[in-house]
Amino acid sequence: MTLTLHVDGERWRSHLRGTAELYDGIIPVIKGNGYGFGNRALARRADWLGADTVAVGTYAELIDVLPRFGGDVHVLTPWRPFWTDTIRPERMYDPRVVHTVSRIEDLAPMRAEAPEGTRIVVEGETAMARHGVDQHALTSVADELGDLVLLGFSIHLPLSEANLAEADRWAAVFEASKLAPRVTGTPVFTVSHLSDREVRALAERRPGLRVRPRVGTALWLGDRGAFRVTGVVTDRHVVERGERIGYRQRPMPVGGTVLIVSGGTSHGIGLEAPSSAVTLKQRATSVAKGSLGAAGLALSPFLVAGKQRWFVEPPHMQASMILVPSGTAVPEVGEEVELDVRMTTTTFDVVDLP
Ligand SMILES: *Cc1c(COP(=O)(O)O)cnc(C)c1O
Repeated sequence: MTLTLHVDGERWRSHLRGTAELYDGIIPVIKGNGYGFGNRALARRADWLGADTVAVGTYAELIDVLPRFGGDVHVLTPWRPFWTDTIRPERMYDPRVVHTVSRIEDLAPMRAEAPEGTRIVVEGETAMARHGVDQHALTSVADELGDLVLLGFSIHLPLSEANLAEADRWAAVFEASKLAPRVTGTPVFTVSHLSDREVRALAERRPGLRVRPRVGTALWLGDRGAFRVTGVVTDRHVVERGERIGYRQRPMPVGGTVLIVSGGTSHGIGLEAPSSAVTLKQRATSVAKGSLGAAGLALSPFLVAGKQRWFVEPPHMQASMILVPSGTAVPEVGEEVELDVRMTTTTFDVVDLP
């Protein structure tokens, strides 16, 4: 059962180098499923890229990243009093870790728990409204800082057009705050979701800050043409219209060939909204056209003869059943079929990266 991510290694590495040059001071983001590659592979790759700092999503992800990357590791999920439930304190307070602080009430317990020299950045709350201190509370943060080592500030921005303005507004708020004089060294200002041009514009406007873009998707997945995803045909059966097949024994709306293809729910296949027939209008269109969506089937990400094909029924744990209507060339058992997946929700059996 093999769901494989094929990577054109040379093309991917050249995209990584190009992106790292474009974004001055880049902090590669390594989190979740490692954008399809796995966090361990990305940690080693960030070292290869020459990054001095990477960011992880959670404290638990330090376990995979710290041993494989030599520089600083910034944890994006803010510090809370309960994270030591998920990771041993020696790891959590490794001297290479940079913590995010987003609430005033966290500072007292953090001071009590964290070893001397623990480094932090303070996050400001943006239009995202996920985490962050309100701009009016920065004075209280300064009062509660104690001897935590403040490296600077961070913000997390939505995927929106108005981000440069919001980033610049926050830069001004931080620079004018009582916290600014407490920073050790040149204050870093780490930001997400700005384009390379916006990062340069912000750095020019704010020469007192070291602007550092945190980039995940645009770095690891910025060149989609460098990847190809395939499943393998493990079986095929001719079926007639009306024949009942699958776990659910539903009658087939048309005749053709059913392909059993590697890739199922455990890989993340079929766990997102099907990319077609999702809106009412699209549904109405598919009913009008008499397509298989109207017969209650969902469109699969698997491509056969250049077209996305329908799931016979919801994908199984490691395999999917795909309907290829009569009159279409059917791949042989053992042949690969391509599929289009979301890289941040897919777990591959094999990453083929020469
Ligand atoms: C995930 C994340 C990023 C990186 O986002 P991409 O869209 O993958 O570049 C940056 N900052 C924070 C706080 C994040 O959670």
